Amino acid sequence: MPDVKIEAGSESRDPIGPLIVALDVSSAAEAIGIADRLDPARCRVKVGKQLFTREGPSLVTALHDRGFQVFLDLKFHDIPNTVAQAVAAAADLGVWMVNVHASGGSRMMQAAQAVLADREQAPILIAVTVLTSMSASDLIELGDTRTPEERVLSLAKLTADSGLRGVVCSAQEAPAIRAALGNDFLLVTPGIRLPGDAAGDQRRVMTPVSAIANGANYLVMGRSITCAVDTDQAISETLSSLASK
Ligand code: C5P
Repeated sequence: MPDVKIEAGSESRDPIGPLIVALDVSSAAEAIGIADRLDPARCRVKVGKQLFTREGPSLVTALHDRGFQVFLDLKFHDIPNTVAQAVAAAADLGVWMVNVHASGGSRMMQAAQAVLADREQAPILIAVTVLTSMSASDLIELGDTRTPEERVLSLAKLTADSGLRGVVCSAQEAPAIRAALGNDFLLVTPGIRLPGDAAGDQRRVMTPVSAIANGANYLVMGRSITCAVDTDQAISETLSSLASK
């Protein structure tokens, strides 16, 4: 990890700062290899479906043992009871953040939030609005003629009304959500790309600096860091670009 002075946390009033590195790899060895190049005082890590399905809870424990706070990004979407029990299991793992799909509806989200109510150290529960890989034409295919921003906004309001702490959205929609739901609602934004990086399968992308300027609290970055020719350089570039703001 290069020696970079970080001030980025002041943006989100979070001492660790806004960066969440997505460990989208297929083995514990690869994930730990990346984690060992990161500093848990300067970023968090995200474990998603690819890695968790292969390596399970022991990988989360290994990351905790290295001092990382973990976003368990399993995007639960099922009947209320099943999702609530899955969220309870995530809480038992001691993760920092966990998520569900807002399109599971308010009863599902309320049930998920309710199982966290009496816990001393509950994870932050947020909901995915519209995947950042989806464009307007993808929504039309699903029979929804609203723009991504309209659909994101209505799901964000449903999430807030259900008592959750925030949403996953594109940084492109962050200003509209901020205006509607205020400053305390957390906005976690994937689809982040360093200038010049390929979007890949993502459709609604933004740079780290623009995402923070738009009101994002947390930036999820995967391939721009993990597939960079020089991972340390990509992390350094990201953090120093945010620190200079
Ligand atoms: O490699 P990239 O930076 O595109 O990775 C984005 C990460 O954020 C992936 O782990 C993906 O599963 C996750 N994610 C997303 N869009 C959402 C929610 C999560 O891309 N709406």
